[in-house]
Amino acid sequence: MTIYRGHLLHISGSPSLEESTSALVSEPDGALAVDATGRIAYSGAWSGLPAALTDDAVVATAGYLLPGFVDTHVHYPQTLTTDEFGGGELLEWLERCVFPAETRLSDPAFADLVAAEFVRRRISAGTTAALVFGSAFPEAQDALYARTLEAGLRIVSGRGIQTVGPASASALLTTEDASIALTRDEIDRWHGQDAGGRAPDPRTALAQVAVVPRFSLSVTPETLRRLGDLYAGTRADGVYFHSHLNENDRPGDGEIAAVRESYGVDTYLDTYDGRCLPGSRTSGESLLGRRSILAHAVHCTDGELHRLAATGSSIAHCPTSQLFLGSGTMPWRRTVASGTTIAMGTDIGAGDEWLIPRVLNDCFKVHMSELGDRSVAIDPAQLLFLGTLAGARALDQEQRFGNLDAGKDADFVILDPGAQPGFELSLQTASEGGARSVLFTLLMGMREASVAGVFVRGRRANPPDSASA
Ligand SMILES: [Zn+2]
Repeated sequence: MTIYRGHLLHISGSPSLEESTSALVSEPDGALAVDATGRIAYSGAWSGLPAALTDDAVVATAGYLLPGFVDTHVHYPQTLTTDEFGGGELLEWLERCVFPAETRLSDPAFADLVAAEFVRRRISAGTTAALVFGSAFPEAQDALYARTLEAGLRIVSGRGIQTVGPASASALLTTEDASIALTRDEIDRWHGQDAGGRAPDPRTALAQVAVVPRFSLSVTPETLRRLGDLYAGTRADGVYFHSHLNENDRPGDGEIAAVRESYGVDTYLDTYDGRCLPGSRTSGESLLGRRSILAHAVHCTDGELHRLAATGSSIAHCPTSQLFLGSGTMPWRRTVASGTTIAMGTDIGAGDEWLIPRVLNDCFKVHMSELGDRSVAIDPAQLLFLGTLAGARALDQEQRFGNLDAGKDADFVILDPGAQPGFELSLQTASEGGARSVLFTLLMGMREASVAGVFVRGRRANPPDSASA
């Protein structure tokens, strides 16, 4: 048994976003007891720690103890290319910056270097679980899973599928047949790969796989139809679906206009919902469901939001990225009111912050800046919920991690604000205002320097040897 003594902050139970405001646990002199199997045996006040747990226990002191952060949308092949100037919005940036950058991962040695750096950045940011948009190249995906498991982190990923695209994407494209075969192969080799010993159910594994078409414009109706068949056959094993939705609404030639024109559908979401033929006629199986996560969803119709909620699908909200590409602001009140699960995504490399609290900081500011009565000051407890428990819920793994409730896997971060200039004093001052005040200052102000320890299933995550880079 190892007992961590510090200020515990987490969202207890299984509340909705709104309910999370009253589910905040703040225990300034708290204890987190982690047993030998990596599960939380106790969390709460130090004074309430059962005596039986303290026999032979190792006690470690910690500043703040929070659940590990969950990033539900991050592009591994863009690890080294945040802040690339594309001179335009989404489609121009993809063509000029992203496709050339991602092509470089065709070199397996370079891909391994990127995979190692990706894992290092995740550990620096305390991101214990992530839904990772993958590379087109299978060897690069192998490096990603191997490096992630070596470090002891959780991952859901899938190779980025493209069967059509501009010239700069040519190295990323495959035939229809290859797109299906490569995705099936990745599922066979990596979905639940580490589950064998402890829990044979792939849904309990650290490494799991998603079906990931880049977006509707990078594939054809035929690709989507065949991916629907593939997904229908693998859904029961807990395979995920992940893509982009309604990001750029520039009139005429933006992403949404181009999707509607090239497919002839009524709404963008129809293309992922088995209705990608002209007039949104049925084309095959839907890709939506409780393990389906769509990034952005900035410009959804009410009907699309209703359909996302009805199918149990989730939104990866990426405000930092939306600022960078001028994609607009997801209407907060309307999206929350739909009942769709909203979690947070860095969207590296259109986003340029690896730390989920930095994305929460942008989230707070952009929704505070919505016009008129749409403006909202998101409660600090809701911010913590969005960066932790909501991510676990979006990944359909809420029963395993996302908060510090006893019985869950011990996925947590230790924060040491003393490592960040002036931060300790700011937090002391905030403490005069109570728990929510401390939490708000912590989430809005923290940087990577404060992340002092990152644990998954009770084991400290190990960054790859930097000598390999
Ligand atoms: Zn993205």
